[in-house]
Order: sequence, then C-alpha cells, then structure tokens
Amino acid sequence: MADTFNKSRRSQIMRAVHSKGTGAENKCEALLRSLKLPFSRHADLPGQPDFILRASNLALFVHGCFWHAHKGCKNAALPTSNVAYWVQKIDGNRRRDRRVREALRKAGWRTAVIWECTLKNADSVASRLLKLTNRGRKNLR
Ligand SMILES: [Zn+2]
Repeated sequence: MADTFNKSRRSQIMRAVHSKGTGAENKCEALLRSLKLPFSRHADLPGQPDFILRASNLALFVHGCFWHAHKGCKNAALPTSNVAYWVQKIDGNRRRDRRVREALRKAGWRTAVIWECTLKNADSVASRLLKLTNRGRKNLR
C-alpha cells in the first residue's frame, strides 16, 4: 500500500505522536497542526468541544476510553470494586455526551469523537481528520 503522507508530513505526524508527556488532546492538537487544519479551542458551545474546525463546521471531541465508555475497548473496562458507583458515573458521562452532541447538531454543527486509544495509530486518525474536514468544507472548489 502506498504511503498516504509525504516524507515531511510523515515525520511531523510521528513527532506529534511520540512527543512525551502529552495527553490525548495534545496529540490531537499536534495532528491537526501537522495536517495544517485551522482550529480553535474551547469555544463557547454546548459541551465545550475540545476542538472547533469552523471551516468544516465540525466540533471535535477527544474522549478518554474509560470515562466515556469506548465500546469494545479494553481501556474501558470498569474497576472490579465499587461497581455501582462506576456504572452510574460512566453512564452519566455517556448520557451527557449524547445530550451535548444533540445540542450541537441542533445548532448546526457536525460532531466527531476521537477516541484516546485510536491516537496510537496516528495515520488512521490523520486520514479520518482529513476525510471529516473535506466532507464538511463549505466552499468546494
Ligand atoms: Zn478505546
């Protein structure tokens, strides 16, 4: 399979992923920068999306697999003690996520979630970001 990204972009992506001591949001931010996608952070929108890509009308959330119950993900396994507490807590997060996405959609935004575990595969996240932003671009050539 041909490499999707040229050499310098590839090394930017790899740097973004391997930079130490950064959380999932920072990784995602570095990816957006390496792809030269303009974004803003912490706009005043429902649910405070992590990234806003106005040109694509896209609100982006970076979700921790555990806190937002990533379906089928091993990182989302609940602790074996205090089960009732965790079930309630995580369930509350999920309900809130749904409400937020709904509110954003009603306000005319598209929404997307980048799961923390998927950031390990920077290429696939980068491709997805490019697809998401192309699809929503307002001014098509
Ligand atoms: Zn996950």
